[in-house]
Amino acid sequence: MDAADYRSQSFWHATVPDPLEPRAPLCSDEQVDVAIVGAGYTGLWTAYYLKSLDPGLRVAIVEAEIAGFGASGRNGGWCVGTLAGIGEYLGDAAQRAGGIRLQRALFDTIEEVERVCEHEGIDCHWARGGNITFAGAPAQVDQLQDDLAVWRDAGFGEDDVRWLDAGECSQRLATAQNLGGLFLAHCAAMHPARLVRGLAEAVERLGVPIYEHSPARALEPGGVVTDGGRLRADIVVRATEAYTNTLAGSKRVLLPMHSMMIATEPLPEPVWKEIGLENRETFGDPRRIVIYGQRTADDRLAFGSRGQYFYGSAIRNVFPPDDPAFTEVKQILDSLLPIVREYSVTHRWGGALGVPRDWRPSVGLDRARGLGWAGGYVGEGVAASNLAARTLADLVLGLESERTDLPLVGPPFPTWEPEPLRWIATAGVRGIGDSLDTAELRGRATPAIRNALFHLAVSK
Ligand SMILES: Cc1cc2nc3c(=O)[nH]c(=O)nc-3n(C[C@H](O)[C@H](O)[C@H](O)COP(=O)(O)OP(=O)(O)OC[C@H]3O[C@@H](n4cnc5c(N)ncnc54)[C@H](O)[C@@H]3O)c2cc1C
Repeated sequence: MDAADYRSQSFWHATVPDPLEPRAPLCSDEQVDVAIVGAGYTGLWTAYYLKSLDPGLRVAIVEAEIAGFGASGRNGGWCVGTLAGIGEYLGDAAQRAGGIRLQRALFDTIEEVERVCEHEGIDCHWARGGNITFAGAPAQVDQLQDDLAVWRDAGFGEDDVRWLDAGECSQRLATAQNLGGLFLAHCAAMHPARLVRGLAEAVERLGVPIYEHSPARALEPGGVVTDGGRLRADIVVRATEAYTNTLAGSKRVLLPMHSMMIATEPLPEPVWKEIGLENRETFGDPRRIVIYGQRTADDRLAFGSRGQYFYGSAIRNVFPPDDPAFTEVKQILDSLLPIVREYSVTHRWGGALGVPRDWRPSVGLDRARGLGWAGGYVGEGVAASNLAARTLADLVLGLESERTDLPLVGPPFPTWEPEPLRWIATAGVRGIGDSLDTAELRGRATPAIRNALFHLAVSK
């Protein structure tokens, strides 16, 4: 791929101010202390903190395409202090203490990302407006009230998360149906590709070479093999998230789930007066097939949904503009905000995110094998990758910190089932999730058995 191909990957790639020219590939054998595979947030943040903590450490990154090619360059731009599975930690007395520490660390991560962006001069259109999860149906009110009760039981107060009554919630986000919702203070809207590209430059300034167009062919104890040379290293960090299954021997580690996004043309000010989102709050509702939106810095709506899994864990980076998934995403957006109906969609794209078998993101280091990893964020990796990378840097450097005993630190991911079971399971979960969402949004009670099946399938 060349720069023009990279620019066409997403709205964010199209509007990032750098030329997206690939950096030079690895073309000889090199020796470093830590070799990182993948230049998304996980790989780049790990390099950033390793070099910040130990400037003498020799760190290098190999990237198959260009920095920010994967999910990090094409996501919904929510830097949010939540994590897949955190509700289970907080809701379970035996795991609550660790869960509370993890939750607080995630909240603090929003400040940390903001701090580094300021320090490194990364202009990623950061807007710390918080997040609104609104209820569009009575069942969603109940669900959000339950979520709020879990936060409160765990000791999180009004400054962290609070209830918005229907009036206030509608004023902040005038969806067609708005029965109230949760306001989470710890969230910023931002331009994901600006963050990842700026981070790559910051990492280079710290003396870390990023070899692009250099796919790792094998991760071995003692190094990484690429077509152009071998990167010898004591420790190899696997930072390939959804793409992990393309590495030899890692086919069933993380399941690549695709999320689909659209961006509208810039909406005029009177339309925004009607919609709200004055502080660029990110927004969604609690349906199972997740939806997520943000008001961009140039006044578009960027909106996404519709998880898609392709047989055999195939990954697609490019989708035809007439892919029916985009029509569905636009229909959902129109149903929430009918005023947007007459405005055109200018960009359509999708990307792959990594789902672990137990739906728990994880960071780990197997020193005997010389392999470190972080990922499996299930679509909530913008902030989590920063916390994961700080944790991984501590582990690699042998530092005991307030992060290294967080529940995020875990054993290797449990493997997924072989095909066709993976495909059947994901299609089943998606189907049940869809039907439950539809029932709830139509004001019908959700069938108990299907509800139980869904929760069984997506929990540990
Ligand atoms: C459409 C979409 C919307 C999302 N929205 C949000 C959101 O709003 N908020 C949120 O918190 N999270 C969101 N996510 C999830 C979030 O983007 C990811 O969790 C996060 O970016 C993962 O970062 P990463 O660095 O681990 O992986 P990636 O960014 O995917 O990086 C992996 C890198 O590895 C490279 N690579 C692959 N194979 C090789 C190889 N063999 N050798 C070398 N390099 C290789 C890839 O090219 C890629 O650059 C979204 C994801 C998607 C796809």
